[in-house]
Amino acid sequence: MSPDAAVPVHDNHFHCKPDGWKGLDAVREFQAAGGTSIAHVRLPAYVRTVEDFERTCRDHVAFGRRIREETGVTVWTAVGPYPLEPLKLAETEGWDAAEDFARGCFDVAARLCEEGLAHCIGEVGRPHFEVDSEAWARSNALLEYGMGRARDVGVPVMLHTEHTEPTQMAEFGAMADRAGLARDRVIKHYCGPLVRDPEHHGLVPSVIAGRSNIRKALAGSPEGRFLLETDYIDEPTRPNVVMPCDTVPKRVLGLMQNGELSEQQAWSIGSEWPKRLYGPAPGEA
Ligand SMILES: [Zn+2]
Repeated sequence: MSPDAAVPVHDNHFHCKPDGWKGLDAVREFQAAGGTSIAHVRLPAYVRTVEDFERTCRDHVAFGRRIREETGVTVWTAVGPYPLEPLKLAETEGWDAAEDFARGCFDVAARLCEEGLAHCIGEVGRPHFEVDSEAWARSNALLEYGMGRARDVGVPVMLHTEHTEPTQMAEFGAMADRAGLARDRVIKHYCGPLVRDPEHHGLVPSVIAGRSNIRKALAGSPEGRFLLETDYIDEPTRPNVVMPCDTVPKRVLGLMQNGELSEQQAWSIGSEWPKRLYGPAPGEA
């Protein structure tokens, strides 16, 4: 498929690191397949201080800028404490210290968004596996705090959580209400095709880009009220553990060729929703 295809193609959860498996070439492959923009999400680093967290965020911001400059791909940057970072700190330091740490990390993420260096607080949320009741309660309290900071600085949050059904979407919606964050500023990463009103409860599903998921999402939301993602992690020891880096453009352009996805839907998924969430492409007026 031609790299200068007429439609914008966005991967809403893309990890790419300079010392990764493919590094910048992952973005080049995405672009060669027709990709035009990514949400570039910070990877966990399991640092132990807020200062070190900020350093990892600034490295991530800098690499995003390099991707933009060297490829021309639009990069929206997401930074925030990955839920397992405070969880791990709590194992040795206890939850009071871990909660202070995570709040400090949310404050750093909010500041970077305020400065225009990042565009989303993510991926944040709670562990994707069962934890004790204290870890669960603390993680929920932290997420609500993070949602409040996102509201303060006018950016969305991107949620990393356990497997999510409409019940959890309703729960996160209520949490956003309490934090004063509009529900359509809450992106559910690694989401199934929960695209109907009673399924998404106002949140924005970032749907894993498998063919059947996309078909279900289009059937449930013909107007294209969702995003697509790979969760590509660029991990040398686990290549393609989630999906190859060029999956979203391959799927989108393939389904368009079959007539299963219209140009209008492609624009909604690939440009309108990303811009509504993150703002204009960095570097654009
Ligand atoms: Zn991720």
